[in-house]
Amino acid sequence: MMIEALTPPAGWIERANELGISFNEGEVEQLGRYLALLMDANTRMNLTAIRDVDEAWDKHILDALTLVPVMSELEDNASVIDIGSGGGIPGIPLAIVMPKVWFTLVDATAKKCNFLEEAAEALGLTSVRVINDRAERLGNDIGERTPNGREDAHREHYDLVVARAVGRMAMLVELTVPLVKVGGLVVLTKGQKADEELAEAKQALYMLHTSHAGTIDTPTGRIVVLEKQRKTPRDYPRGNGEPKRSPLGVVKK
Ligand code: SAH
Repeated sequence: MMIEALTPPAGWIERANELGISFNEGEVEQLGRYLALLMDANTRMNLTAIRDVDEAWDKHILDALTLVPVMSELEDNASVIDIGSGGGIPGIPLAIVMPKVWFTLVDATAKKCNFLEEAAEALGLTSVRVINDRAERLGNDIGERTPNGREDAHREHYDLVVARAVGRMAMLVELTVPLVKVGGLVVLTKGQKADEELAEAKQALYMLHTSHAGTIDTPTGRIVVLEKQRKTPRDYPRGNGEPKRSPLGVVKK
């Protein structure tokens, strides 16, 4: 896959800098190369509704990078999982600018995972792995027994979970919270309905022993930060599709 990097619109790098995002040599070019791959693949499959390149620099790349300041406490070799990564937002831009952190990108759709694999390969992102599976199943994956204890678990394995545009919060917390360690963060990119969704998810958060650590306004949306206080009860996540069909603690109308 030989593809030329797109260049950001005038003032874009400065705007990112003002948000606390700085770039090392070559990273903006890598972001531009990823955006080119995304826009190109989008002509063959439905990854994003945004076709204008300058708009995509803001609504995809910058939007993904607004999570960087929230993730600044992560140590080297920390592990992050992006649930419902789709075309790779926010996981791939984050992996480009945070090379010392391990990223796992998850999507239920095989075609999207194929694109993610190809993009990670073309960009030389060795810190990225792609898993074609459902979050419900990974959240119940406690790994294999080995002489050294359990290995390769996904449940309660990650330091931080991110997700954008996968669904309303009451449903999304059941998909994401089980994957993070106790004390870890769940960082959700939301829009203007963040408060409304948070209110609806109140009971689900209680059931999953997770608290609201804060909400951050950014130029492209609102970031909701949740902190897992205790282990997830064994009943969660429920089976495939169940969190969406009947979100925890939401009374059916
Ligand atoms: N995060 C991307 C894609 C959002 S679209 C972005 O912001 O552009 C939502 C994606 O979540 C879809 O690709 C869909 O396949 C995936 N998805 C939905 N439910 C899922 C689940 N339970 N497990 C894994 N992936 C899921």
